[in-house]
Amino acid sequence: LPMEVPRGCYVYLAREVKRVVNKPVIACNRINDPLLAEQILREGSADMVGMARGLIADPDLPLKLSQKKTDEILPCIGCNQGCFDHIFHWEPVACMVNPRAGREGQIPPLSRTSTPRKILVIGGGPAGLSAAATAAALGHEVSLYEKTGELGGQLNLAGALDERTEFIALKNALVHRSQTAGVAIHTGIEADKKLIDTYNPDAVILATGGNPILPRIPGIDGPHVVQAWDVLSGKAAVGEHVVIIGGGAVGIETGIFIAKIGTLDPEALHFLFLHQAEDTETLRALCTRGIKKVNIVEMLPKLGKDIGMSTRWVELKMLKLYGVETLTDTMVTEITPEGVIVSRQGDVDHITCDTVVVAVGTASYNSLESSLRDSVDQCFVVGDAQRPRKAYEAIREGFEAALKIS
Ligand SMILES: Cc1cc2nc3c(=O)[nH]c(=O)nc-3n(C[C@H](O)[C@H](O)[C@H](O)COP(=O)(O)OP(=O)(O)OC[C@H]3O[C@@H](n4cnc5c(N)ncnc54)[C@H](O)[C@@H]3O)c2cc1C
Ligand code: SF4
Repeated sequence: LPMEVPRGCYVYLAREVKRVVNKPVIACNRINDPLLAEQILREGSADMVGMARGLIADPDLPLKLSQKKTDEILPCIGCNQGCFDHIFHWEPVACMVNPRAGREGQIPPLSRTSTPRKILVIGGGPAGLSAAATAAALGHEVSLYEKTGELGGQLNLAGALDERTEFIALKNALVHRSQTAGVAIHTGIEADKKLIDTYNPDAVILATGGNPILPRIPGIDGPHVVQAWDVLSGKAAVGEHVVIIGGGAVGIETGIFIAKIGTLDPEALHFLFLHQAEDTETLRALCTRGIKKVNIVEMLPKLGKDIGMSTRWVELKMLKLYGVETLTDTMVTEITPEGVIVSRQGDVDHITCDTVVVAVGTASYNSLESSLRDSVDQCFVVGDAQRPRKAYEAIREGFEAALKIS
């Protein structure tokens, strides 16, 4: 079950089964939080609670719970990227939040080093936070610098949709791990060569991430053209009719984000439903029809090619539910003041819109590495700074870089 399914969503089914059988009933699926599990048992909705992915994400969950260290539990975020997506491809189970998962035989539990080093981590996204937390847990002296006022990097964008706020839970868990391990975190400071020289570290981990690509399309510098990242972060507003260039994960999530503007929020829905203020068809329409019209234009034959098998169908379904129109095998060849010109197998067409949102991928941002070659003995480049990919790789590479420090 993907993260779009709310935590504990299907407990009501266990409760109904329990009413009619005289055998113990186990509630399961999207129960990753021990406090939620406790609540289910206290309410009598089930006799036991089953967790699978929660224990892949943090095998020490029961131990931490018994020691009353619940805030140290690493939550399974329901991303399915390391577990189900791997299984569907006949690959061993791994995990987004637990880079040791599936490799316990090769990577022993973290133990403190006898040769602590002075480590500088640059970038407070998932790669940097993972590297910093791991290095500090190994006993190194670690400082992390993040140039913006907020930690988390692109996780803040990945978690922008209400249905995907588990990425914010992941950010919070990584920040908490870094803090409790003793990382000195500095936000709002852009690390440069001078800062690195002054700090004089034994090792530098560069986790400076990436920036959104601006494609070379005529008209791209128009005032009505914005980046998807800016829409998701609330920095850019959009008009009534939006065309999104790019139908990968970012384009799809931005499409859903915009299409949801003006739809009923869960609290209002609950109120109107409870008081039968509208019939169910009207409520469904109010939940799915917002105030924006959205078109996604993708040049590849398929949308969401970069989304894992376990989650792609959910995101495509959400596009349909929210009335987002999509075109594949179609290239935007020009942006005009009135919209975009598209070409599909030789046929040229014009789509009218008042805002064009760009979601065509990420370019690595790694401006410091070349200047450090002669001055720092150990330098690691991790996450999107090395090559734009996913948070899964970023967390893994940050972890592995920390293990390599000698
Ligand atoms: C909308 C969206 C949805 C996504 N969905 C998913 C998903 O479902 N699953 C998934 O696995 N991945 C997803 N990703 C991708 C994932 O978020 C990125 O791959 C991941 O965040 C990369 O991590 P990073 O730490 O390498 O870089 P970033 O997250 O980009 O973090 C880099 C950080 O470094 C900081 N920085 C840069 N230069 C400096 C400097 N000189 N000094 C100090 N700080 C600096 C930046 O401000 C930034 O905070 C998504 C991304 C987006 C935009
Ligand atoms: S990969 Fe994602 S869904 Fe699977 S166990 Fe890890 S956090 Fe949970």
